Amino acid sequence: MAHRLWINGQWTESRGGGMMKIENPATGAVIAEVVDASRADVDAAVQAAKTAFYDGRWNKKSPGERSKIIWALADGLERRIEEFAKLESENTGKPYKFVSLGGDLPFAVDNLRFFAAAARDTHGAHAGEFMPGYTSMYRREPVGVVGQIAPWNYPLMMAAWKIGPALAAGCTIVLKPAPGTPLTTLLLAEVLAEAGIPEGVVNVVTGGNDTGQAMVEHPDVRMISLTGSTGTGKKIMKTAADTLKRVHLELGGKAPFIVFDDSDIELAAGKATAAATLNTGQDCTAATRVYVERSKFKDVQDALVAQMEAVKIGQPFDDDVAMGPLISGVQRERVNGFVERARAAGARVLTGGGSPKGLDVGYFYAPTVVADVDQKAEIVQNEVFGPVVTVQAFDDETQAVAHGNDVLYGLAASVFTRDVGRAMRLASQLEFGTVWINDHLPLTSETPHGGFKQSGFGKDLSAEAVGDYQITKHVMIAHA
Ligand code: NAD
Repeated sequence: MAHRLWINGQWTESRGGGMMKIENPATGAVIAEVVDASRADVDAAVQAAKTAFYDGRWNKKSPGERSKIIWALADGLERRIEEFAKLESENTGKPYKFVSLGGDLPFAVDNLRFFAAAARDTHGAHAGEFMPGYTSMYRREPVGVVGQIAPWNYPLMMAAWKIGPALAAGCTIVLKPAPGTPLTTLLLAEVLAEAGIPEGVVNVVTGGNDTGQAMVEHPDVRMISLTGSTGTGKKIMKTAADTLKRVHLELGGKAPFIVFDDSDIELAAGKATAAATLNTGQDCTAATRVYVERSKFKDVQDALVAQMEAVKIGQPFDDDVAMGPLISGVQRERVNGFVERARAAGARVLTGGGSPKGLDVGYFYAPTVVADVDQKAEIVQNEVFGPVVTVQAFDDETQAVAHGNDVLYGLAASVFTRDVGRAMRLASQLEFGTVWINDHLPLTSETPHGGFKQSGFGKDLSAEAVGDYQITKHVMIAHA
């Protein structure tokens, strides 16, 4: 099927853009074609969003009206949840039952409901007399037209994480899904219309990196929100400087998973496995670096290998499958490259490190545990974005914190211990946007998610996300 662009509430032909083929990564088959939007397409979408912003068809509605429409969007998505989940699995290879239908889609629906409620929270807007004879009023206003650029690992969920807070804040939007995974975001356009989102308030433009670049360069876009790699975040920040746009960057991660010797070993190994293999490890908060206190190192390592070998890998539509393929052949090469270079440098691959048995077609990669690595090794320092963990021993709390923090990233970390004092000390010393104690991965719509250091800045989820799409205006009224 060939798709068009969703601009100003209508399916629109491209103004000179090409077409891109969309693959099913479990089979390699081409399943759709989408527009590789041109600069003129981006401009048309921005102009539609600009008109919709300045005529107030969205931001001049009462919070209650906006909330009702965002809620209707959540309902519309929920009504068609199986259709969305099926398409997401076809486009990404995610297990249908366990991930798309069991995780991504319900979370997207819940997220939109959270932001429907947040649209009515007027916290932060207040007035006071701070100088005799004057009243000061703070208005929280929407930033304006925002460009939102999504990654391929959670296509629809990231779209919901982005449009939810921006709509709650009163912004209008040009949304670009990742080049290879646009199908559920295009389907979402149908639901936007059904829910009553006014024309031009959310525009969906498909395309590659140049399309994203055109959004970042556009002078009428006031803010860019990116979820993507750290390299892309740096490029976007540089480009955005020319028009002094706000940037909201949710970037890469390299989460440490720190296990002290008082932990339940099977629990820790099970959580590490789940957090390393969910979404085939293509998760910015995935557990990637397992650090174990030396006295329990061998026990945890053995339990981890056993649990990683027990993960059920297979075709996305088989019922009991927990892990599907990687997103593409390029990604498989990338992941395998990290493992092979580590092996060549003297690391031991305890399990995995290639295709799982019987799954040579598609981009499957076995859950992989790599030992005998140095803290400065490439595989310990860089984001692999596949089902691969390294294991290292540590001697004491100080070393655990030092190794945990010793990467450029700062998105998420976890600590396994029964000692509350130690848990609290590490929670404050680890430089990550999220620190889990005795778990790794859970998030809810209420919990702020975002990075420290080179994992970016700005928050997704929670009321803080709405604040990121607003700007404070001070109005001062003389009583005379
Ligand atoms: P990517 O950086 O390659 O692409 C992300 C998006 O940016 C795509 O839509 C792409 O077309 C666009 N893009 C690329 N170059 C651009 C440019 N110069 N100007 C404008 N847009 C541009 O990332 P990806 O490979 O799609 O996604 C994986 C990455 O995303 C990983 O690093 C992962 O950690 C990160 N991620 C982060 C979070 C988070 O919340 N922090 C969540 C999910 C994924």
